[in-house]
Amino acid sequence: MMEDRRELLRKIPKIDEVLQDERLFFFTESTPRAVIVDSVREVIDELRKDILEGRRSQVGTKETLMTEIVARITGKKKKSLRRVINATGVVLHTNLGRANLSDKACESIMDVARNYTNLEYDVKRGSRGSRHDHVEKILTKITGAEAAMVVNNNAAATMLCLSALAKDKEVIVSRGELVEIGGSFRVPEIMEQSGARLMDVGTTNKTKPSDYLNAYHEGETGALMKVHTSNYRILGFTQEVELPEMVELGKKLNLPVIYDMGSGLMADLTDCGVDEPTVLDALKTGIDVILFSGDKLLGGPQGGIIAGKKEYIDKMKAHPLARAFRVDKMTLAAMEATFFEYSDIRQARKTIPVLNMITTPAAELKDKAERLAGEIRRTTHNFTVEVEACKDQVGGGSAPTVLLDGYAVAVQGRTLAPEKIERLLRKEEIPIIIRITHNQVYLDVRTIREDEFEYIVAAFTAMDSRQVEG
Ligand SMILES: *Cc1c(COP(=O)(O)O)cnc(C)c1O
Repeated sequence: MMEDRRELLRKIPKIDEVLQDERLFFFTESTPRAVIVDSVREVIDELRKDILEGRRSQVGTKETLMTEIVARITGKKKKSLRRVINATGVVLHTNLGRANLSDKACESIMDVARNYTNLEYDVKRGSRGSRHDHVEKILTKITGAEAAMVVNNNAAATMLCLSALAKDKEVIVSRGELVEIGGSFRVPEIMEQSGARLMDVGTTNKTKPSDYLNAYHEGETGALMKVHTSNYRILGFTQEVELPEMVELGKKLNLPVIYDMGSGLMADLTDCGVDEPTVLDALKTGIDVILFSGDKLLGGPQGGIIAGKKEYIDKMKAHPLARAFRVDKMTLAAMEATFFEYSDIRQARKTIPVLNMITTPAAELKDKAERLAGEIRRTTHNFTVEVEACKDQVGGGSAPTVLLDGYAVAVQGRTLAPEKIERLLRKEEIPIIIRITHNQVYLDVRTIREDEFEYIVAAFTAMDSRQVEG
């Protein structure tokens, strides 16, 4: 027995010999040598161990060994952060990175990433400039706001705003608006972190103007704040103080009014049933400061946009947290390019992927689903493929009650269970993320780009042969 094993171990190729194999030449230019050597060593060590411990009774062919090594190298080269195909139909899928950017925004990122830029340099005057200028120029032009700046995300924007305008002061907020967004952002906690003191007024379902007036303490109150209930709605016997009235109250009490509006919708989407407040409507009320996310319905990069009255924005720009929360040149480039798209709203609905996906008419989605279904049917034998109407969510904690009319390709395998198909699709080189509905695999075409069809079809073709084998 031991003799047999010793014999087998002798048959294992030497590392140096394997490294000469031409199947590895392909990797030599694009892969650090250490990664190749490690992969070879690991696979050979495992083989030796398996033989010694009696788990294998054959060395196998050189071909199988090399295939295993090549797979190991490819696995090691895989980036942790990778592209996936979103076949869930949820446009702003938080786990899948929210918004994907317009072509123009991506080009801008590439351009500034590989070159020096005028990030903090005034080319006209040949002197130091401010990184805030770039987005401020376009944003003030498009929205009419007096001033603007961008920080890391909306959570940072809220924190900076409260710290700069209301540290050690009371900030009055309605009890119905003490929002929690995705676990870590909670209005009361951000408030505490910022050094402002939360004065919550009214009740969960009703807050009146008099509630704000009664909570006002001269010399103690620093600001009034309204928070958009992005990811929930209070229905029934309700009352809230609308923005114009909040602005009136602010004037009366001589206090800044801050509005955390969440999504930062720039294009009116009421025709699609999306009833989120728009940036322009908010600014029209004469509000002092608005805060919103870059990567929700705005459809840009992650960021927190602060816009409003210059005197307040200047205070925020000068605050130490502004440095801690500042964004890099790539975010600024993508943000500027995204806002530039909004110079023509009709065009923006096509070029900004988030808007495009939300506004695609159901009939178009049906055609798209038919095309994908047709391709899968044409190239496989062991799947039942149907097109079904479905309801899609905007996601990302936006427009929580809106259900968009969508279409999905519903697939059932002859022998593969939906959970198994789901797992196999996730294991693809470009993982395909789907949902299972009514015990079927649903490929919701709203969030799938046409150029991604071929990957999906190839994945089903590969699974098809698996089903034949059993
Ligand atoms: C999403 C959201 C936030 C947090 O924004 P991030 O950009 O994710 O940090 C804050 N406030 C409201 C009302 C939101 O909807």
